[in-house]
Amino acid sequence: MSALLNAPQREAIHYLDGPSLVLAGAGSGKTRVITHKIAHLINGCGLNPSNIAAITFTNKAAKEMQERVAGLMGGRAPGGLTVCTFHALGVKIIRQEAKHCGLKPQFSILDASDTVQIVADVSRDSDKARSKAMQWQISGWKNAMITPAEAAQLADNELASAAAQLYAEYERTLRAYQAVDFDDLISLPVRLFEDNPEVRERWQNKLRYLLVDEYQDTNRAQYRLLRQLSGVRGAFTAVGDDDQAIYAWRGADVENLKLLQQDYPKLKVIKLEQNYRSSRRILTAANTVIANNEKLFEKRLWSEHGDGDQVVVTACRDAEHEAEWVASKINAHKFEFRTKFSDYAILYRGNHQARLIEQQLRNQKIPYAISGGQSFFDKAEIRDLISYLRLLMNEDDDLAYIRAITTPRRGIGASTIEALGSYAGRRHVSMFAASFEEGAAHALSARQLEQVQEFGNFINRLQYRATREPAARLLEDLLAAIRYEAWLFEHFDTREAESKWNNVRDFVGWLGRKGEADGKNLIELTQTIALISMLDKEDAEFDGVQLATLHASKGLEFKHVFLIGVEEGLLPHQSSIDEDKVEEERRLMYVGITRAQRSLNITWCERRKAGKETRTCDPSRFIEEMGGDIKTNDRKSNAPVSKEEGRARVANLMAMLEGRGG
Ligand code: ATP
Ligand code: MG
Repeated sequence: MSALLNAPQREAIHYLDGPSLVLAGAGSGKTRVITHKIAHLINGCGLNPSNIAAITFTNKAAKEMQERVAGLMGGRAPGGLTVCTFHALGVKIIRQEAKHCGLKPQFSILDASDTVQIVADVSRDSDKARSKAMQWQISGWKNAMITPAEAAQLADNELASAAAQLYAEYERTLRAYQAVDFDDLISLPVRLFEDNPEVRERWQNKLRYLLVDEYQDTNRAQYRLLRQLSGVRGAFTAVGDDDQAIYAWRGADVENLKLLQQDYPKLKVIKLEQNYRSSRRILTAANTVIANNEKLFEKRLWSEHGDGDQVVVTACRDAEHEAEWVASKINAHKFEFRTKFSDYAILYRGNHQARLIEQQLRNQKIPYAISGGQSFFDKAEIRDLISYLRLLMNEDDDLAYIRAITTPRRGIGASTIEALGSYAGRRHVSMFAASFEEGAAHALSARQLEQVQEFGNFINRLQYRATREPAARLLEDLLAAIRYEAWLFEHFDTREAESKWNNVRDFVGWLGRKGEADGKNLIELTQTIALISMLDKEDAEFDGVQLATLHASKGLEFKHVFLIGVEEGLLPHQSSIDEDKVEEERRLMYVGITRAQRSLNITWCERRKAGKETRTCDPSRFIEEMGGDIKTNDRKSNAPVSKEEGRARVANLMAMLEGRGG
């Protein structure tokens, strides 16, 4: 394992006398330090893999890290090693310490749309935008570890008190459902460790060494969790880059880098300066752009790679033209250089930009995969099935209960749900439990009661089997029992139903593979699903162009990168310009540029549709900031050929050939 490590990397790997921080720019081998350090801790120091936890930013990154460690250890992943996100670690802790958290181990994990629904329910306000804003506020409190009582104390006007009150009700509802939201996955363990020193010590003894990747994007609660777990020993290595801090909008706090130095005066800071990823011209463009930000820490970055291709900036007429240009360019480039589709990535600021690109890729028969977009697990048909799984696992989950009992429709309508819901509310029990109480007979008609109990018995039978049989087989039988396929074809037109049913088949297949590969039971699987839908889905290994938002591209690298929509108003985003937050946008641009190894193509559109309007756009200021050594294509040189023009050209060519032949 001494292969391919430079001196400061080796120093970071061997340093074990206390806490350490590797602070370095993009592509300098920070993540590589983590994987090699894991191998060193196990092979060199004899630490048991189960005593090590490495924390990554996405599930995808976790998977990749696991594979890299396995590669270093002779092909097999060391058993017991924890490599996961902060959120997945939180699930693990809460599951094992459920009773200390006032939960049962089968608690449900609610996603963003569930939580907005709960806010809407408790505030009795059907305005989606207001509920979303309120949920955002609650999430902010939770990330800052502010309790409902504290929020109420802090409130200095009526509106704020009402919001704090809503927060309290929201929390009560979550607990009544035996459910947690994403923020709880961090804040519950933090509170647990604060309140129970023995539990904290147990976990400190279990996880004896911690490694954290992308440390610059941790939030305050995550930092507290790291502190508690590593205890006084401070046995951890964090790696990060302040220039790549791009999650401030979600509560991440680069100040955590400074906190580390304050809280651990003995912190060993190691800097890496050689970039191994990108050719020199790409690296220079990145360095020149980021030099426009105020510096938090002084860093240098150089590369031994050759100059490489020039960065190319192309002006396009509009987004349709841009999509067409990018797709044709990829096809042509792939043909010329005999590359794989997976060597290419298309990166963009906002998810909405993916639609046109997807269309063009499909038109030009280019396979692709999207990460960080609207997730597979967010599709209605998949959510339907997940609601059944959640209910099987946790009957107190009223949201899952309502969705499952009404999908497909089994003659149970809104009035039944309302009557049962309000009876359950009076009795302080879940709707599932309420349906079997004697008193329910007074709240529901005989026919309604029979229907809900029939559903309840059906769920009970499946629950019994869930503890004994593989999850995929159970799901097959469930699908047959609820006649889900037939229901799809009755309710949607054939094409839509087919596509939905295909998704369902994919889901069952995925569940089967996952269950077998990881030896996970239904509870663990269902909780895994909730986490995946949060940030990314695991892509099947196949040769396709990668599509991702800049946020989701963090930590990844691609041979050829297309960075699209690089215009004022989009990157930097208008809202950031208005709020004077251009520096975070510049870091986003820096992240985008530094994903590229060999070539970087940047496009911008002269016009862009925004709602019903079309506005004219200027190239992003970041393009100019990249410096002089770039090649620009103006629109005339790359305009697609119109049909008439094309025909005229062919006619000319034919005439010429004939002329020559004659
Ligand atoms: P980012 O900031 O984007 O997350 P990073 O600092 O984590 O980047 P890595 O992904 O670890 O960087 O490394 C970038 C590339 O350089 C990888 O392909 C890695 O294998 C390679 N690399 C890292 N260190 C070395 C080295 N000492 N010799 C050769 N290649 C290296
Ligand atoms: Mg990295």
